[in-house]
Amino acid sequence: MQAWSVEEATVLWNRPVARDTWRMALQAPRLADRIRPGQFLMLRLANGRSDPLLARPYALYDVVRLGSTGDAIGVEIVYLVVGKQTRLLTELRPGETAVVWGPLGNGFDAIPPARHLLLVAGGIGQTPFYAFAAERTGVRHYGAEQRTELAEAVVLCYGARSSDLLACVDDFSRLPIEVVLCTDDGSAGRRGLVTEAAAEWLDRPGNWVVVGCGPEPMLRALQQLCGRRGVPCYLSLEVPMACGFGACFSCAVPVRLGGAVDYRRCCLDGPVFDASEVVF
Ligand SMILES: Cc1cc2nc3c(=O)[nH]c(=O)nc-3n(C[C@H](O)[C@H](O)[C@H](O)COP(=O)(O)OP(=O)(O)OC[C@H]3O[C@@H](n4cnc5c(N)ncnc54)[C@H](O)[C@@H]3O)c2cc1C
Repeated sequence: MQAWSVEEATVLWNRPVARDTWRMALQAPRLADRIRPGQFLMLRLANGRSDPLLARPYALYDVVRLGSTGDAIGVEIVYLVVGKQTRLLTELRPGETAVVWGPLGNGFDAIPPARHLLLVAGGIGQTPFYAFAAERTGVRHYGAEQRTELAEAVVLCYGARSSDLLACVDDFSRLPIEVVLCTDDGSAGRRGLVTEAAAEWLDRPGNWVVVGCGPEPMLRALQQLCGRRGVPCYLSLEVPMACGFGACFSCAVPVRLGGAVDYRRCCLDGPVFDASEVVF
């Protein structure tokens, strides 16, 4: 496992991109140089601000590169405002700092190369998929090595309650992937659950590997859908956690291994799990 490091990161930009959803770039070259799609970072407010006391985890959205050299200088996250820290994050201005540590977690490298990738995102669950889709389509690379396991086809089914909550769709649309939007109220894309759209894609010919990120009911539905069809499925879990590196055991995930239920730490063994092992 690669070592993680702590950096005081300067905010480069921080702006709203959808209802209650913000996109922030942080200058953190050591992290940016190594973080891989599906990995995450922990973020804590700086300058003696200790409320909230605990850091919060955020998935890598993208890496910021210097135009002139291509050097990785920062990371972007996309966050939904749900509580204390995310509300305070919206007040951070360029030039202010936050403390970040990472890269953390197994990331999507836990998923074997796949010819046909079906990414299923619900709510803010699209965030780890931009870097993943960009890399598996050969558009961008992350970390030290150039990866070559390209997918022949990548489909993103992305669902939200309504159109104003869909974030960063333009980024995804610029990638050579199929983007299928779903909203509960029909205000964008097709009306209905994202898992219904996913099921239809699985009816099409392909060696599908499914990857899900989003609210637990969606992940559970995806687990069942893929289990019934015998399709490999991986889930990126967003379990609340305090440290991010395995010390606090606050993010234990029940898993079924060899018929018995055991526990794995989401931060170390995840956040990406084989769906067939996860016990909801
Ligand atoms: C690996 C990982 C990656 C993540 N990536 C992102 C990301 O890219 N963008 C993003 O917006 N969020 C992401 N999250 C979730 C994010 O960490 C939480 O939303 C954040 O901790 C909320 O902090 P807060 O102080 O604003 O809210 P809090 O005050 O801590 O909580 C507000 C409310 O949200 C609930 N809550 C908090 N966290 C979760 C959770 N994980 N699941 C269910 N309910 C929760 C609390 O119970 C409470 O009701 C990720 C989580 C993990 C584990």
